[in-house]
Amino acid sequence: MNSKKNIAILGSTGSIGKSTLEVVRKNPEYFNIICLTANKNVIDLAKQINEFKPKYTYIDSTNLLDDLKLKITNNKTKLIGTTKDLCDLLASYEIDSVVSAMSGSSGLFLTNHVLINNKQVLLANKESMVMAGQIFKKFKQNIIPVDSEHNSVFQLIDRSVDYVSNIVLTASGGPFRKLPSSEFKNITIDMALKHPNWSMGEKITIDSATMMNKCLEIIEAFYLFDFKPEDIGVLIHPESIIHSIVNFLDGSSLCQFSEPNMQIPISYALAYPQRTYSGRSSYNLADKNLTFHKPDLKKFPSISFAYNALKTSANHCLVMNAANEIAVENFLKQKISFIDIFNVILDSFNIPNNEVIENIDEILYTDELYRSKINKILNKYTF
Ligand code: NDP
Ligand code: MG
Repeated sequence: MNSKKNIAILGSTGSIGKSTLEVVRKNPEYFNIICLTANKNVIDLAKQINEFKPKYTYIDSTNLLDDLKLKITNNKTKLIGTTKDLCDLLASYEIDSVVSAMSGSSGLFLTNHVLINNKQVLLANKESMVMAGQIFKKFKQNIIPVDSEHNSVFQLIDRSVDYVSNIVLTASGGPFRKLPSSEFKNITIDMALKHPNWSMGEKITIDSATMMNKCLEIIEAFYLFDFKPEDIGVLIHPESIIHSIVNFLDGSSLCQFSEPNMQIPISYALAYPQRTYSGRSSYNLADKNLTFHKPDLKKFPSISFAYNALKTSANHCLVMNAANEIAVENFLKQKISFIDIFNVILDSFNIPNNEVIENIDEILYTDELYRSKINKILNKYTF
């Protein structure tokens, strides 16, 4: 690589944040960590600060600032006190690329801020794309997808986008691929948190179990790559080795494969348009039998939710994302059952959602409005 990139990681204490730091650890000559942020995990944030010595850090829970100060052993890192100061830093010359790795809707505000300031975003936070795809698509030349399937499509289409006929996102099928739907009522949190292939944060792990993750990813792909919804397919591939397939007009298809480890797409996004060592090796196709089959849309209605939402409106995507986030949060608090995640989402489709949304403030406002209505729906299902 030609020069050193100055990086900020939003959500450095999460699964993507830690994988990003692992890639940076392998490439100290190429990447400079300028800023690390977290919500409340003071212990991990302090460890990361002590190792990477970023120029700045920010913790969302400001009541934890003093605790963080006590744990930092270097005096090179400045603690940013306000969101405004963080916004100023992210928009400044000090940062080249921002890794958007906060979870759920919490990533929307800052991801938008970075994009409108013409900075490069390495986007893991798919929910912000689902919520604000209509606005973010204007900035897509500055977005490098990190989500493995989208990173894979991004690698495959390269300069041949005009010749693509359709794309296929693969899906592991999650832990309940083989479980009959009659057994779904007995699913516990522990069962849902055991993803067969990927090690990830809690929200996305539950999304993988309900296959709402694939629903969000279809919408993410729609906005990132501008294909028609019907040209974005899903194929169940339980081994998670092939991450996407791109079918071209001439009948030729390309796929990208690697072991299921996020360091690989993250290293691609960090080094783009070059490549660098990710810390992982190439996958040997002789290692496993790779299998593929069609998704069971009856058992997992989530995939159909995505196509319906895209055919209906951006507001439909927004309300669905909010309903899913609230339902998952309440499932994880043992307040609703696994099946009721689907029911909360289905009921949320009855919320009138024809508000005109033209900017990020209107998205944030409407999202709040939908959430208050979804919380009422939730009462119907709470134990
Ligand atoms: P984690 O839950 O592991 O990490 C989330 C990070 O965001 C943590 O650093 C957390 O801080 C921070 N955070 C959470 N809420 C807030 C908030 N309100 N304000 C500020 N910071 C906050 O999530 P993942 O790393 O698994 O996922 C991150 C994003 O990447 C998600 O959108 C997910 O869908 C996407 N993604 C993840 C993949 C994966 O393999 N994990 C793969 C593809 C996409 P703290 O630790 O202090 O709570
Ligand atoms: Mg993915």
